[in-house]
Amino acid sequence: MLETICETLVEAYRRNWITSRDGNVSIRHHDRDHFYITPSGVRKQTMQPDQFKKIKINSSIHSGWGTADLLYAWEEMDYTDISAKLKPSGEIPLHFGLQKELGQHKDDVRVVVHLHPTYCVAAMHAGIELGAIAKEFPELSRYTKVAFNVPDVPPISQELADQCHKHLELDKHGNIAYDIVGIKGHGVVAIDTSPWRAFEHIERLEHICKIVLASRR
Ligand SMILES: [Zn+2]
Repeated sequence: MLETICETLVEAYRRNWITSRDGNVSIRHHDRDHFYITPSGVRKQTMQPDQFKKIKINSSIHSGWGTADLLYAWEEMDYTDISAKLKPSGEIPLHFGLQKELGQHKDDVRVVVHLHPTYCVAAMHAGIELGAIAKEFPELSRYTKVAFNVPDVPPISQELADQCHKHLELDKHGNIAYDIVGIKGHGVVAIDTSPWRAFEHIERLEHICKIVLASRR
């Protein structure tokens, strides 16, 4: 599936949903204690599977006053010689929060895709609430659950990760209530069980945003 992720990034670049070094994707198989994430600063239209970073998920039990919580941390694992020279995407807090527990994807694969699709970003910039327009277009809401927008937050920050997780309604078991969330002035994050399925959530929302913006002229 790493090869498929590379194909989706080529297509995202072709559609102007990212410039060369933008965007990031992670993938975890339910029976593995690690996930793969795109590296930082690599040209996405020529990205190769051996450039991915392999990230181990560590968990430990933290007991407090009558409670026991699982604490998670990540560390880089050896993968390929090429990968060893690269750093994981700066958006790793966003991906790690969604990959540490797989929730409704617990017997499957979870793919998290972050891109900067033109009309989604333009719609949010124009003050449009993506979670609200989804309700007016049944062909969108039938297949894609759209969360309410995350406000302006700094890129590659823990705040961006926390706000996205909150708006997706991520719980401690890894369940999420939505398939996609927009980040104002920035982009979107989509989640599903394959790279192309996550891509389609973005495609559907992008199409509706284009229609909504066209109707306002
Ligand atoms: Zn971004």
